Amino acid sequence: MSEINQQQAHAGGCLCGKIRYTANSRPFYPHVCSCPYCRKLSGGPMMAFVGFPLSGFVWDGPGGEPNWYATSPGAGRGFCGNCGSRVCALDDGSDAVFVTIMSLDDQGVFVPRNQHFREDAVSWLPQVPEPRAAV
Ligand SMILES: [Zn+2]
Ligand SMILES: [Zn+2]
Repeated sequence: MSEINQQQAHAGGCLCGKIRYTANSRPFYPHVCSCPYCRKLSGGPMMAFVGFPLSGFVWDGPGGEPNWYATSPGAGRGFCGNCGSRVCALDDGSDAVFVTIMSLDDQGVFVPRNQHFREDAVSWLPQVPEPRAAV
């Protein structure tokens, strides 16, 4: 897992502002996923996520927690029930939430280093470069 040296808070939320979050924990593992669930959920070719430990992570918008949809048992996907924005993925029992990078207020901070389900990716977009071997 790649770690990023950033200790400041990261905030984000949905398009309409009902669902908001602030992460005061250390971000890790920015990646994209082009699995069938991510493609169908997003309506796009892939989704981009970055992880935050749940300690220090709060849902602080007027809507509280997002609505949840489980793509498979125990695999929750959080979205705004008002505007439909996908804001996160959270597995039951996990100690970390993966927020969608495009839900962050600053979408340019995280650069995905890995691509899940590369073999399922569309042919008409370049793929995320293969990660370099660990040094
Ligand atoms: Zn919304
Ligand atoms: Zn996926």
